[in-house]
Amino acid sequence: MNVDGINSGFVLDHITAGKGMEIYKALELDKLDCSVAVIQNVKSTKYGRKDIIKIDCMIDLNFDNLGYIDRNITVNTIKDGKLIDKRHISPPKVLVNILRCKNPRCITSTERGVDHIFKLGEGKDSVYRCVYCESDHKEITL
Ligand SMILES: [Zn+2]
Repeated sequence: MNVDGINSGFVLDHITAGKGMEIYKALELDKLDCSVAVIQNVKSTKYGRKDIIKIDCMIDLNFDNLGYIDRNITVNTIKDGKLIDKRHISPPKVLVNILRCKNPRCITSTERGVDHIFKLGEGKDSVYRCVYCESDHKEITL
């Protein structure tokens, strides 16, 4: 793990190649004062190609958002130049108002003010389904 240039902050590793910018936007990293580096298309022995994001400050990371966009991410926490925590992100079980149900007959489309709630099914290749109409979202998009 190369933590060069990071004093205290995070290195998001093993991001699926091409998703780095999506995560950058989803976490609103452009609004931070500290330096943020998005490194794209890095060669990885484990996953082929990957993206890496380095954040040189301590922020409140939204891990649910991360796990929803990309299930492969490893979050490394760095303090005083040392790796103090490494965790694998797992996708959140429930998403509230992140995905929108596209079924025109779903209650979330016909009624106003209904929360869009999706639940993750069981199993490795599980998908998020709308809790009202069971519509699924195979492709994870924002
Ligand atoms: Zn629905």
